[in-house]
Amino acid sequence: MRVRLNVLMTALCRALPAFVLVMASVAAHDAVAESFDAFIAALWTDAQAQGITRANFDLALAGVTPDARVIGAMQHQPEYGKPFGAYVGSMVSTSRVAIGQRKAAQWSDTLQAVLQKFGVDGAILISIWGIESSFGDGADRWDVFRSIATLAYARFQPPYFHDELLSAMKILQGSHIRRQQFLGSWAGAMGQTQFMPSSYLKYAVDFDGDGRADIWTSVPDVLASMGNYLQKHGWQPGLPWGFEVTLPPGFDYRSSRNSFRGWLAQGLARADGGLLPAQGDAILFFPSGASGPAFLVTQNFIVLKAYNNSDAYALAVADLADRIHGAGQIHATWPTNDFQPSRDQRIALQHKLAVLGYQIKDFDGHFDFDLRDNVRDLQRKFGMIPDGRPNLSLFERLGINVR
Ligand code: CA
Repeated sequence: MRVRLNVLMTALCRALPAFVLVMASVAAHDAVAESFDAFIAALWTDAQAQGITRANFDLALAGVTPDARVIGAMQHQPEYGKPFGAYVGSMVSTSRVAIGQRKAAQWSDTLQAVLQKFGVDGAILISIWGIESSFGDGADRWDVFRSIATLAYARFQPPYFHDELLSAMKILQGSHIRRQQFLGSWAGAMGQTQFMPSSYLKYAVDFDGDGRADIWTSVPDVLASMGNYLQKHGWQPGLPWGFEVTLPPGFDYRSSRNSFRGWLAQGLARADGGLLPAQGDAILFFPSGASGPAFLVTQNFIVLKAYNNSDAYALAVADLADRIHGAGQIHATWPTNDFQPSRDQRIALQHKLAVLGYQIKDFDGHFDFDLRDNVRDLQRKFGMIPDGRPNLSLFERLGINVR
């Protein structure tokens, strides 16, 4: 026990400065082993208040100890820091496209039924399924209760993991799955949908009619649960996620929002030569700046970010879905020197923008299109191309350490 907790402390010291202070003071009293017990004792009070029985509480946490590997894994977030094109390319491999096409054919009846009920295009669902769990072949072997208890105990993003732990207990109490089947990612994302426990309680559905929402082994339940999730987050049936586009000579980069008709009038065209829709609005998005690929994206692209709050993730899902439909690769070349800020650098940028008077919604390092519009405004003031993509020059100009 002592060795394991010392390892945990070492890992936490790299990851969580605030937690170091707590652990150091606890260690000074030589009471490390008791502190997890104290955490469990306090948790029981909250669980009991939410109707969890003592038997289920004990079943959930039997033998659970903090897991240092969870803290180590927390430091690797693939959407951050990797060049955009390299990330999308790694997610949208030729083999994944081929498997996705086979899965789409294999499950076409189910996908049609999910489309009828939830309004989400089957290729989008197959794409998310492929990226989240390699179509169910990704072997998650982390114990969900242990992972989430570790993160709750470490007070990582409180009260998020504390609440997820209670949600997991509710799933167990509801007899949806057995205790030993509670497997997920290191951060507690479960099954082939990679739902956190609270998302399971809200969005998981039984679509094969056996009475259980089984996101671990039932493909119809997996696909329908993902469709339900996207529908409840505002997916608009029939609206494309967006398109890669080309810009006319002399384009005014300050433009970022318009109707598709308006973009057409400004001289934008689809890169694949197809027609832009006659209806709907779209945002102009340069993931790697004005010299790289350009996209017009819709509300449905933003809904994809509800699954994973990253533009790179959403574009990977969107591109894989297009490829499953038979589209070719992204036409424009990704820049080779594509600086993508780390999470800490993104947060530093958000604080700088706030100091400069811009409205910032969160300080967690998430970029949305309002933030990119603020970046455009600042780039214009600095005499840079206002493409909404914070590049190395902008970070340096703002005095943010990028080394
Ligand atoms: Ca079922």
